[in-house]
Amino acid sequence: MSLPRTVIRNGLVITAAEEVHADVLIEGERVVALAATGSSAAQAWTAETEYDATGRYVVPGGVDAHTHMEMPFGGTKAADTFETGTRAAAWGGTTTIIDFAIQSVGGTLRDGLDAWHAKAEGNCSIDYGLHMIMADVTEDSLKEMDVLVEEGVTSFKLFMAYPGVFYSDDGRILRAMQRAGGNGGLVMMHAENGIAIDVLVEQALAAGRTDPRYHGEVRRELLEAEATHRAIQLSRVAGGAPLYIVHVSAEQAVAEIAAARRLGLNVFGETCPQYLFLSTDNLAEPDFEGAKYVCSTPLRPREHQAALWRGLRTDDLSVVSTDHCPFCFNGQKELGRGDFSKIPNGMPGVENRMDLLHQAVLDGNISRRRWIELACATPARMFGLYPRKGTIAPGADADIVIFDPHERYTMSAATHHMNVDYSAYEGKQVTGRARTVLSRGAAVVHDGEYVGRPGHGTYLPRGTSQYLI
Ligand SMILES: [Zn+2]
Repeated sequence: MSLPRTVIRNGLVITAAEEVHADVLIEGERVVALAATGSSAAQAWTAETEYDATGRYVVPGGVDAHTHMEMPFGGTKAADTFETGTRAAAWGGTTTIIDFAIQSVGGTLRDGLDAWHAKAEGNCSIDYGLHMIMADVTEDSLKEMDVLVEEGVTSFKLFMAYPGVFYSDDGRILRAMQRAGGNGGLVMMHAENGIAIDVLVEQALAAGRTDPRYHGEVRRELLEAEATHRAIQLSRVAGGAPLYIVHVSAEQAVAEIAAARRLGLNVFGETCPQYLFLSTDNLAEPDFEGAKYVCSTPLRPREHQAALWRGLRTDDLSVVSTDHCPFCFNGQKELGRGDFSKIPNGMPGVENRMDLLHQAVLDGNISRRRWIELACATPARMFGLYPRKGTIAPGADADIVIFDPHERYTMSAATHHMNVDYSAYEGKQVTGRARTVLSRGAAVVHDGEYVGRPGHGTYLPRGTSQYLI
């Protein structure tokens, strides 16, 4: 029995490495060949399904390495389930997410992992992997890290923020880094000095400064930079254990990462579209609207954006993920009316990332191939999924987006597919949009229609990071 064949013809195939006018042949779930458009090899291909990508780009499906579907936070939980969130991701041209399983304090890593598998299994339209949030570093959970790395959960997130919730002190961080240095795990760090931030929160509230904008003010840039610096030094003390700083937003934190990379250290930085396109101006929107933009690290003054774009060009920042963690304005963000510290932290964006980064190409901030590198190839390599994900090449999964670089549209909650009642980019006009999205050879979105199904997406055990020296 032969596998069903699909051909994508006449498009411009863009990967992190090259741009070629080529036809792509898929058999079953995998890419089997590329051949120059019009060549006799390509013309000889026959297939059950053909897509005409004339005038369009053919790019690898996006890899969003930082999402939080159904994440519990502050007495509520993120509004997208794995079902709604992965469907929205597919609409936006993302075909892989890596979400975060959470260890509870006093619990095991295994229990947290099992709970997240139960939430995701059978519900996803696209493939997914899991990182592990370590909220309780103990002798037992350190030992469990080794087992998880063997099983394909190869990255562990620690928090220098949120005392009493996810927070780890420096001793626990050092121990986890030492362990990761030995077992090949990658430590992901939320780098903000949460102990100092909590003091400033208390002082702000006592002085009557309760509006959403103060969320940004108390989470000071210096406290992001300080924590970033401290995490880097701890990783050096731990023998050069690899370190990935999540959601970098402050120029001073980029500088810390750049300095570490100049020393040749295994330190990597991630940023998110909200830091590239939004600012404290949004946090200051009146009538509590600023709550829509409350996330941590917080949005920064507009001047920081240039440093982030520069970091993305110099590779001091290597990945753009979304930190997708949506809470509805009505009923969820509203929990923090009169007290910004009670606003659930997180923003929607899993559907918007690929299109926003394409807009950045048009704006002259990054090149086309860098767009694919930041959004597809590097996250796949960073988290042990390459070349199965993140590129279009023989042997790779046929996770492919046919992207119309000319379609102009307006981002809006009225038309998006995320399960949240607002868009962080409401009214923003962008040019370029995912039109057809394949996940392992099967169409999930085609010409304005969802044609996938929950449960098509499978769990991805991952290898160790492919960037380690
Ligand atoms: Zn996060």
